[in-house]
Amino acid sequence: MVQLSNDCFRGDERLMPLHEALALLAERVVAVTEEETVTLDEASGRILANDLVSARDVPPHDNSAVDGYALRYADLQTDQATRLAIVGRAAAGHPHVDIVEAGDAVRIFTGAPMPEGPDTVVMQEDTEVADDETTVIVPAGLSEGANRRRAGEDVAAGSTILTAGRVLQPQDVGLAASVGINHLPVFRRLRVAVFSTGDEVRDPGVDLDDGAIYDANRYVLKGLLVKINADVTDLGILPDEADVIRDALSAASENHDAIITSGGVSVGDEDHIKPAVEALGSLHFWRLAVKPGRPVALGQVNGVPFIGLPGNPAAAMVTFLRFARPLILRLSGVRDVEPMIVRVSAAFDHKKKAGRREWVRANIQAGADGIPTAHKFPREGAGVLSSMVGSDGLVELPEDMTRVEAGSMVDFIPFSEVGA
Ligand code: AMP
Ligand code: MG
Repeated sequence: MVQLSNDCFRGDERLMPLHEALALLAERVVAVTEEETVTLDEASGRILANDLVSARDVPPHDNSAVDGYALRYADLQTDQATRLAIVGRAAAGHPHVDIVEAGDAVRIFTGAPMPEGPDTVVMQEDTEVADDETTVIVPAGLSEGANRRRAGEDVAAGSTILTAGRVLQPQDVGLAASVGINHLPVFRRLRVAVFSTGDEVRDPGVDLDDGAIYDANRYVLKGLLVKINADVTDLGILPDEADVIRDALSAASENHDAIITSGGVSVGDEDHIKPAVEALGSLHFWRLAVKPGRPVALGQVNGVPFIGLPGNPAAAMVTFLRFARPLILRLSGVRDVEPMIVRVSAAFDHKKKAGRREWVRANIQAGADGIPTAHKFPREGAGVLSSMVGSDGLVELPEDMTRVEAGSMVDFIPFSEVGA
């Protein structure tokens, strides 16, 4: 189990820039270290625990990149076509074993090992066959080594093919397979407990009583956690009562590596979450210099990291994506937790306060010149979850910026980059 000290997440009172908050998390978070071995079929999405070194070359032998004829380049005339005798056949899985002498060629197919002697392959489309298929006529102009794939040109024996801390993608698993590895060492899944909080929050499926709302956040957060391969426990909805919250958090801390809640971290609600968490560990409110997103609460419950996200669904989701997600990824053992940010052209004017990072929900369309253009979603309240459904991602505006003018280039994080 991951264990944290009491003041691990102590921040300071001022508004903290996001990059500083992420750097602090990187420094203070203790990742899981327990490893397990999985088959290739189970490996996609898991986090590689050790560097992987290939014991062999891929491809293992020089081979042909095309269907054609393997020949010795030195046999070719440079100013006219050359006639070569066809002396054999090599197909993938069926090598030609005899040495090919000067003046001879071997009919070869894609993936077949190069026979001994030839160094070059001519594509069959460029040749003519004559003399009852015993002679191939090769035009002038072929370059030496053409269409020959070298042993080890994909992976050289002894090289590191995948590094520890990487979220395994299908192509990574394929690369491991290509060097003959059939099991991979991965970190065990992070066990994450998710709660919603609020006396007004109800699970969909029941009738709504006066003043109540349905819980959206738990479903968003669970889905986002599953996408990063966490082992998620849904612990339901907690009332705004410190002692009930305390007992639930205490129980959750026994068999989880992290606890995430939404709601209850705005000023009035701190009365419930704060004493509950502090009775079991410690809690610090980080006033992030971001919009949307009110304070994010960070702490530990019996040594287990606790993250309290805002209750407003759009704010909960954005702060999860940009703050909690990197934290959870780090806890899981992932090394590179930053999403890829691309530059797009803004199709909107926008004013913002200096000193905070702001996310504008936006759709991407191809502009007249084909350049991706970000269109601001018309409704931007912290509670407007449909804005997240109607957008392709977040335009991220840096702290020092005070306005965006239509036509200027801005940073954009596609939802697909952050599992949303
Ligand atoms: P809070 O952060 O608890 O003050 O909540 C802020 C706003 O978000 C309030 O309008 C809550 O009713 C709403 N809210 C809190 N939790 C949820 C939830 N799980 N799903 C949808 N809305 C929520
Ligand atoms: Mg609340």
